[in-house]
Amino acid sequence: MKIGVYPGSFDPVTNGHLDIIERGAKLFDKLIVGVLINNNKSPLFSLEKRIEFLEYSCKGIPNIEVESFSGLLIEFMKNKNAKTIVKGLRAVSDFEYEFQMALMNRKLNPEIETIFMMTNNKYSYLSSSLIKEVAKFGGCVKGLIPEIVEKELYKKI
Ligand code: ADP
Repeated sequence: MKIGVYPGSFDPVTNGHLDIIERGAKLFDKLIVGVLINNNKSPLFSLEKRIEFLEYSCKGIPNIEVESFSGLLIEFMKNKNAKTIVKGLRAVSDFEYEFQMALMNRKLNPEIETIFMMTNNKYSYLSSSLIKEVAKFGGCVKGLIPEIVEKELYKKI
């Protein structure tokens, strides 16, 4: 069985993430969305909420699983028997960091491959942090995040 992992903070999930998930799901028997438990960063949404938003937004895609992980991604991959990391690329600015991460992960486990999917041009400027910033100041983020997230985002801020 071909299993991929799409890791991230998803704080919160945006339509840019969902676009990668939908397209990525077609490449694998199973695509695991790995939600990072990052204790250093303090996320706006709890882990449970981030997972709930993802599960709700992906419920139409049968081969998606949403799971949390902490520590090394490649350890999580080993436990899940996954061999491919899926990443989205928005701009050249993403490249340097992702390049470093991909090479480090390959050094840690040469059997794991990272693949990059080009963003959908509709969402290339989207990031979770920009969404939070705009919402904080009352800007409209309709059409950029799932509706369920939109409702809770304004409540939260
Ligand atoms: P963000 O960078 O928005 O805070 P994450 O850390 O959760 O989000 O990102 C997880 C993955 O999703 C990364 O590989 C990132 O490059 C990708 N990604 C995030 N937003 C988009 C987008 N709008 N289009 C394509 N890929 C994206």
